[in-house]
Amino acid sequence: MSSAQITSPAVTVRCPAKVNLELLVGGVRPDGFHTLSTIYQAVSLYDEVTVEPAETWSVTLRGQYTEGVPTDGSNLAVRAAKVLADRHAITQALTVTIRKDIPVAGGMAGGSADAAATLLACDALWGLNSPKADLEEIAAELGSDIPFLLHGGTAIGSGRGELLAPVLARGTYHWVFVAAAGEGLSTPAVYREFDRRHGGLDIADPRPTPELMAALRTGDVDALAAVVSNDLQPAALALNPALRETLDAGMEYGALAGFVSGSGPTCAFLTASAEASIDLAVALSASEIGDRVHRAHGPVLGAHLR
Ligand code: ATP
Repeated sequence: MSSAQITSPAVTVRCPAKVNLELLVGGVRPDGFHTLSTIYQAVSLYDEVTVEPAETWSVTLRGQYTEGVPTDGSNLAVRAAKVLADRHAITQALTVTIRKDIPVAGGMAGGSADAAATLLACDALWGLNSPKADLEEIAAELGSDIPFLLHGGTAIGSGRGELLAPVLARGTYHWVFVAAAGEGLSTPAVYREFDRRHGGLDIADPRPTPELMAALRTGDVDALAAVVSNDLQPAALALNPALRETLDAGMEYGALAGFVSGSGPTCAFLTASAEASIDLAVALSASEIGDRVHRAHGPVLGAHLR
């Protein structure tokens, strides 16, 4: 690509993390993925990706969660940029700078957020003006959570999570997230444990729970707290039993609901109000859990230009 086609010297896109308000896991499909029914919500913990034209590819990491993130071609941001470049026969290399404030391997789709941010950033940098459907298609090929992170808000995910449908959701929810100390949990390992526990059962295709959809329609946080659920939680707790103590601490300090986020090990706590989320975050930070406590609200916009 000639430099004349570059519309901007550097582009920065911010992308939120996700929490699954409901994660129902069905059987294994012929392609090896599980059938899912999930309700995603985008929450205000953000990674930020900046792309700049360069002579060679490189990844620079900043922010509080950089450990375990690859800086070679396996980084999901680089993979996303290269897929978009290939589609448009663009050969330009990039410097990709990622500010990571979403816990790594934490069940909050941080890598997917970086991929979604990079698709949008490269689209702007290269002046492609891709139709939304094109970016969504590339996103779905790259990873199950990536289409949702382009979309944001609250949405139903089906298939392996990549097929989205809107949800009528009222209100703003106030969350506290506790990132686990040490290494995260590998999503495939959590699914393997899930399969082991379900011993080859033929699980029917899941559908969103009507009570959860009703709670979102009315914006009733107590009703929502009563029905949030995660089929992967028993598997995540089996692989990391210390999470039980974090969940118990959050409930003891006043959360309305506490559960493992996605494949874990981040624990998500739903609270009654912004004030309640501050109280909970302060109490958890003062405990042995320390500085891995984050407040956030949702729903928020998906990936967007800064
Ligand atoms: P999900 O909720 O989608 O299952 P996760 O939040 O549990 O994902 P990620 O933070 O997306 O997990 O990272 C999973 C693994 O992907 C990491 O351990 C890391 O090796 C690899 N990875 C590749 N690119 C990235 C990236 N940009 N950010 C984070 N991890 C990345």
